[in-house]
Amino acid sequence: MARCAVCDVTSSYISKEIGVCLRCIRERPEDALPHAMCAHRRSRTAFGLPERPPKNPDGLTCKICVNECRIPENGIGYCGLRRNEGGKIRDVSSQRGKLSWYHDPLPTNCVGDWVCPGGTGAGYPEYAYCPGPERGYKNLAVFFHACSFNCLFCQNWHFREETLKPRTRSVDELVADVVERTSCICYFGGDPVPQLPFSLRASRLAMERNKGRILRVCWETNGSMNRHLLDRMVELALKSGGCIKFDLKAWNENL
Ligand code: SF4
Ligand code: SF4
Ligand SMILES: [Zn+2]
Repeated sequence: MARCAVCDVTSSYISKEIGVCLRCIRERPEDALPHAMCAHRRSRTAFGLPERPPKNPDGLTCKICVNECRIPENGIGYCGLRRNEGGKIRDVSSQRGKLSWYHDPLPTNCVGDWVCPGGTGAGYPEYAYCPGPERGYKNLAVFFHACSFNCLFCQNWHFREETLKPRTRSVDELVADVVERTSCICYFGGDPVPQLPFSLRASRLAMERNKGRILRVCWETNGSMNRHLLDRMVELALKSGGCIKFDLKAWNENL
């Protein structure tokens, strides 16, 4: 139960953290959004992440996602992954990333499972090993440790505990874990967007090393990527029989 700081209504549907009601966010954004922004600020500073995308006119520009950060010397991008050190972007690249991974037996809890070749056999025999769910095969789930958004009630919020840790892993390490029974790779997180150059490179290498057999490449994303990178993703997903799953966060711009 909380009270809306704008219209004074009390309701169990009002989040204590945000402090304003849904109606005010939709209909009185100029009054409500400053309260919501405070909640965002608190949630980011708790993890040492920048409060908003840096826009330093002399900073280094990153165009991987819609934030289009301009990162000042010794500063980091909104996602927390890219650091401007002496005029060069450091920390992650198309070769090294901040991520972890594990195998999940198919059929799995992947959101595309009810339509995809792995869960249904759609596209068999070109894109699926069986005419039904691919029992006996595995999905390589790749969890990225950063995001380009800051959803306040993120179900995978714990990725933020990893974002600023220095450890990175290489494309080769990930691809080496694609085994004979891996029939799909799914990138999620956090969100794959801030590390798309890494997942695109890893996917190409994995497909090359597994030529002649089915290996689907899928992404689950908030859709905030640069369009050119989206084109590359679509090419690989279509070629391999994989899916791109867009997680639409809100239909109303103020949300
Ligand atoms: S990927 Fe990260 S550094 Fe690049 S624009 Fe997006 S939030 Fe900023
Ligand atoms: S990774 Fe792709 S093919 Fe595999 S279960 Fe998920 S949506 Fe289906
Ligand atoms: Zn209200």
